[in-house]
Amino acid sequence: MTTVTNLGFPRIGAKRELKRALEAFWAGESSAASLQDTARGLRARHWTLQREAGVDVPPSNDFSFYDQVLDTAFLVDAIPARYRALADADPLAGYFALARGVQRDGYDLHALEMTKWFDTNYHYLVPELQAGQGFALRGDKPLAEYREAKALGIETRPVLLGPVSFLLLSKTVDGSPALDLLDALLPVYAELLAGLKAAGAQWVQLDEPVLVQDLDDSARAAFEHAYAVLSGVPRPKVLLATYFGALEDNLGLAAALPVDGLHVDLVRAPEQLDAVLSVLPPDRVLSAGLVNGRNIWRTHLDNALVLARYAHGHLGDRLWLAPSCSLLHSPVDLALETRLDDELRGWLAFSTQKLQELRLLADALDARPHAEAGLAASRARIESRRQSPRVHKPAVAARLAGLTAADAQRHSPYPQRHLAQAGALKLPRFPTTTIGSFPQTLDVREARARNKSGKLSDADYDAFLAAQTEHCVRVQEQIGLDVLVHGEFERNDMVEYFGEQLDGFAFTRNGWVQSYGSRCVKPPVIFGDVTRPRPMTVRWSQYAQSLTDRPMKGMLTGPVTVLQWSFVRDDQSRADTCRQIALALRDEVLDLEAAGIGVIQIDEPAIREGLPLRRAQWREYLDWAVEAFRISASGVRDATQIHTHMCYSEFNDIIHSVAAMDADVISIETSRSRMELLDAFVRFQYPNEIGPGVYDIHSPRVPDKEEMLALLRKAAEVLRPEQIWVNPDCGLKTRGWKETRAALEALVAAARELRAENADANAA
Ligand code: GLN
Ligand code: ZN
Repeated sequence: MTTVTNLGFPRIGAKRELKRALEAFWAGESSAASLQDTARGLRARHWTLQREAGVDVPPSNDFSFYDQVLDTAFLVDAIPARYRALADADPLAGYFALARGVQRDGYDLHALEMTKWFDTNYHYLVPELQAGQGFALRGDKPLAEYREAKALGIETRPVLLGPVSFLLLSKTVDGSPALDLLDALLPVYAELLAGLKAAGAQWVQLDEPVLVQDLDDSARAAFEHAYAVLSGVPRPKVLLATYFGALEDNLGLAAALPVDGLHVDLVRAPEQLDAVLSVLPPDRVLSAGLVNGRNIWRTHLDNALVLARYAHGHLGDRLWLAPSCSLLHSPVDLALETRLDDELRGWLAFSTQKLQELRLLADALDARPHAEAGLAASRARIESRRQSPRVHKPAVAARLAGLTAADAQRHSPYPQRHLAQAGALKLPRFPTTTIGSFPQTLDVREARARNKSGKLSDADYDAFLAAQTEHCVRVQEQIGLDVLVHGEFERNDMVEYFGEQLDGFAFTRNGWVQSYGSRCVKPPVIFGDVTRPRPMTVRWSQYAQSLTDRPMKGMLTGPVTVLQWSFVRDDQSRADTCRQIALALRDEVLDLEAAGIGVIQIDEPAIREGLPLRRAQWREYLDWAVEAFRISASGVRDATQIHTHMCYSEFNDIIHSVAAMDADVISIETSRSRMELLDAFVRFQYPNEIGPGVYDIHSPRVPDKEEMLALLRKAAEVLRPEQIWVNPDCGLKTRGWKETRAALEALVAAARELRAENADANAA
């Protein structure tokens, strides 16, 4: 019988039970014991559910209170000194201090830095290491969870982040190579593996996803060394798991490591199957990742079966079937989506359904009689999707086919546009603006919720939003900002707001995926060709403009960001889906312009996170991403000013593409790094205008005028004065009004002072 296995199951719970339990515990409303109860209940439910779906060996230790990388750091005692006292006194409190920081009982500790887990929207905590440090086994989480399942009668495969990936995902505070710590770390892994073997574990899964990235010689050597050492100790059989891409040049390395099985991602990289089969040693298990662990689509089982049969022909029982990666990145159960229409629901599969698909594939391989009916039913759904007029709209295809280079090109080059815009907008030097949103107070969120639940009529909600917008405009006028915004009070989320108004998008009720810790996101599902039935933002921008003589900036979410933060189609390229969104936004931009909006910002905070894991693929991605932005922005007249915004500051390696977007003005986050991150723009001699953020909106702290002026002077040393805008780092939606007002007053004062200094310098 063909074995079905799984690499990891979402831990948050179908209804986000873990989120609720965590937040109640953090708020002091529930005890550690009750948090542990919820966790145990979820683990038991998930193991049972996986068994019922047909998984032979479900994973254990895939559960986490916050993050699996943090769990690993904690497990090997990679705890920076400042957290140690707390972690020793109260392990759970110490763990959450690393995760979220702590400010009580005499402790004042920041959280560890957080960053994206490969190219997913999951964020992990970056372990902090130091040259010469030691490691030790702390606690027994993997063992305890293995035993917990065993007590329920379920044999699991404990999952551990492998030692090389762990080190490469960490950072060292002293800049020393993290891999120098490998020899100190390996005994801890050896001890852990021995413990798992003693507890009866048959297999253990070591995740080494860095194997799908470009590795240097020291990393390759580290793999060879680490796995040679670990093969010499008493341990369960080891499944080495790679995912999120092809092994490519690391295939030989991975296949030669002394382990007992290899997991490969055949969804992202089906083409690697032949190469894998040809180098896999004869005693090895191959775990074939055939069902996409990162999306919500039903699998094309006929295609998957072709690969499975081919591999089965070579391997027989040494072939296991698995999702491409942990199901952490897919929601839990489609059965809860009672509000989706049947047709659309028929096209989808969440984690639970994906495991059932794997069972069906295995049964088909084993020629079980009932499998044919299952495959036929699945085929019918796939066919319905392929032919649905909800998915395929000839007009969209025609428009895409008709795109020319001119559609992605402003009429004139930037210098001419700059003159036209200067004439139209008449802004002072160092113009001030904000990034779009103003405080989303409890009032605003409550009104939205009440309108959604029918307790507040549309007319009353509208009047409420109008009042908020007007108030926001007046405040900005009083503060003296030059380019105003309407405040975005009508928006729940910067992608959802647009997705809800575009055709081709669907929204789930419980399609949650963990973003970090207790935070989950519910990405829209882009299922069909994207069209814009009617203008989406014109009304509020136009209304806000009618209230003031100052320029009102229109505010849109860019095509790459909409794509990046949604579940996207798997039946056409990401580039094409992105172009469709870009065309819908282009129409919106033109409608805004026609409605008298002369400044339009198209936010693209997600451009950088879309970068492929392999450098060799960056160019292609950046080319279509930049093109999509330009399609959305390029329909307007020279005098209409296009802004873009990105919420980070690492531009060194993508600065050419950022410049190629050809926005008239870009705003970026720079206040925390004290402008150092402007470097890329300076070295590259960025030609257009730029607003380096001078107010860190991630903190309630109110910076004063001098502080912002100092940042601006630094910027003015390296940029031309006519290039510089003055603005915060990002939108203000998470801030309160009081601090926002104070900070923006200081910001305007700083800009005025810089103007005066600059005028004096010119006069002299
Ligand atoms: N315009 C958005 C806002 O101000 C931008 C948010 C973002 O960059 N993430 O909220
Ligand atoms: Zn931002």
